[in-house]
Amino acid sequence: MKIAIVGAGIVGSTAAYYLSKEKEVEVTVFDHGLGQATKAAAGIISPWFSKRRNKAWYRMARLGADFYQELVSDLGNDGYDKSFYDQSGVALLKKDDSKLDGLYEHAETRLEESPIIGELSIKNASTLPEFTGFNRYLYASGGARVEGAELTATLIKASGFEKLEGQVTLSPLDDGTYEIDGQTFDKVILACGAWLGQTLEPLGFEVDVRPQKGQLRDYFFEGMDTGKLPVLMPEGELDVIPFAGGKISVGASHENDQGFDLTVDEAVLEVLEEEAKTYFPDLSTDKSFSERVGTRAYTSDFSPFFGEVPELKNVFVASGLGSSGLTTGPLIGKNLVDLVMNRPGNLDSTDYPVANYIKKQD
Ligand SMILES: Cc1cc2nc3c(=O)[nH]c(=O)nc-3n(C[C@H](O)[C@H](O)[C@H](O)COP(=O)(O)OP(=O)(O)OC[C@H]3O[C@@H](n4cnc5c(N)ncnc54)[C@H](O)[C@@H]3O)c2cc1C
Repeated sequence: MKIAIVGAGIVGSTAAYYLSKEKEVEVTVFDHGLGQATKAAAGIISPWFSKRRNKAWYRMARLGADFYQELVSDLGNDGYDKSFYDQSGVALLKKDDSKLDGLYEHAETRLEESPIIGELSIKNASTLPEFTGFNRYLYASGGARVEGAELTATLIKASGFEKLEGQVTLSPLDDGTYEIDGQTFDKVILACGAWLGQTLEPLGFEVDVRPQKGQLRDYFFEGMDTGKLPVLMPEGELDVIPFAGGKISVGASHENDQGFDLTVDEAVLEVLEEEAKTYFPDLSTDKSFSERVGTRAYTSDFSPFFGEVPELKNVFVASGLGSSGLTTGPLIGKNLVDLVMNRPGNLDSTDYPVANYIKKQD
């Protein structure tokens, strides 16, 4: 069976990795890469505090956080370095810190089905002297951070499949196969993120996927031991994400009116930096930094979807992962592989119906 994967963000590269464990498949991965959300992501894996009422989304997000254990172990067993993933814990802040008690109770109800949350407790700020500007915080030791670019590079390498660079188009052929870049495929996975419309609209589909610009800054501090610090999550857009080796990421913006623009907007980043200094005054000292800009995909009701494309047999798709796609992406990629191989996965794709977001025009 010849399979094409279009897009090598977190969804496409996880699909490639798990397809490489199947027998008698031949896979080619195509990726343009420009503006890819996965490369720009802050990388926080901590869905348990969310108050979103969408049960299907929460199920996907909590199972997605769990799935990292399996993915990391699978890559480790294949001999790959696992440092892209670290359960360094998360520390949540509230402007009115009495609200932390309610949030604690909310997360506590989720402990039984998600033991990965680990230690859950409200702590005094003195236990986290590297940060300032708050009195108490809610801590979950199982919260994690992921280096998206490192993870996808590892997955593609571990798959052993060829990744071809460039933007491709999809052409259905009369015999039910598909042509991409001059090659013929039996099945196709479209893991195109925000660019899904550009692939399906020329084939007469209407696609409810919009781009959202996200920017963040990575700050580099020489000699600072940032590896042990938890991710700091104040209320609102700002997160402060320490990585090992003196890197602290500060982000991320959510800009709905910028289309696919990838230019760095200093004004937006400076607002985030000013707020971050409240919690991490070291940001005022001499530092070097660089920016990342990516495009998230979101749908009109902010729900992700995956499954087979209506009226395009053997073309499977996932998109609309929004702000939590690094959390849900690996699990979606794995479930796409199950669909391609014709067996049930642990997510029911009818809970995330493609037909709500992709429609054939009359
Ligand atoms: C700034 C920022 C911060 C974020 N922080 C977090 C976070 O902390 N936690 C979290 O869980 N999520 C986070 N996210 C969200 C997460 O990164 C995304 O939801 C997720 O990475 C989407 O993965 P994807 O594989 O669907 O799409 P992408 O990673 O965007 O990959 C899609 C790929 O497909 C390629 N492509 C598309 N069409 C074609 C074509 N026709 N031909 C060839 N290639 C094509 C694109 O070039 C791209 O490389 C963040 C996102 C951003 C931008």
